[in-house]
Amino acid sequence: MRLEKKVELDALRHEKQELEVKKSQLKESIHNLRIGVLRSLLSGTTTAIYDGIRYDQKAGGVIDQLYLISSRLYEISHRLSFGLPFGPTTPRAPKDSTSITIAGAKFIVSFKEWNENQIESSIETKLKAREIEKAKILELKAKVATTNGEKRSQAQRFRRDLHEQLKLLQRCPYCEGPLTECNAHLDHIYPISKGGLSSLKNLVFVCGRCNINKGDRTLRTFLKAFNLTEKSVHDDLELLRKDF
Ligand SMILES: [Zn+2]
Repeated sequence: MRLEKKVELDALRHEKQELEVKKSQLKESIHNLRIGVLRSLLSGTTTAIYDGIRYDQKAGGVIDQLYLISSRLYEISHRLSFGLPFGPTTPRAPKDSTSITIAGAKFIVSFKEWNENQIESSIETKLKAREIEKAKILELKAKVATTNGEKRSQAQRFRRDLHEQLKLLQRCPYCEGPLTECNAHLDHIYPISKGGLSSLKNLVFVCGRCNINKGDRTLRTFLKAFNLTEKSVHDDLELLRKDF
């Protein structure tokens, strides 16, 4: 493939040399044309041969020819500068592709498929992929925001429920110590690990220390282990209309 590419590029270089010669001849010819010849050329009636170049078209044709040569030269130079970045002395192997960056997205352009339409469509595809990526990120952000929103509303509910309980009882129902927004924990009276439910009847706000000490013990074993008065705890829980 690389050899094929090199042959192609060499051919381009050759064509370029020839065209450059032709172009300078053409320019010189036009410059040297006498006014009369130019007139006849303009009228399109005369076939003129000048400096070995045959002009059998109107003068517009000559200019067209010059224009075509110039644009072909431009194209060749462009392709050669992409494909054959020759140093001043050491020729380097031609590249098969190059990378360009458009709107922050990097594209690999292959010279094998040097086709503007293809490049455009690949750019479009890539930009679309980036749009999809962006949409995915936005979706994820929205999800996080929703989760945060849920957490916030859970926290609000926690506070509201705590205040409901504090209206009935202004202390920790287990140790009778202070119970505030800062130290309140929600305890499963019958531990979740033993099948306790997260129902209002089985949930009670207690101080953080009691909640940690109780762990996954049942109420009875916790009260015994920490030498707490069963009767007053039961009274408090009854007041709060809890199951135990
Ligand atoms: Zn407590």
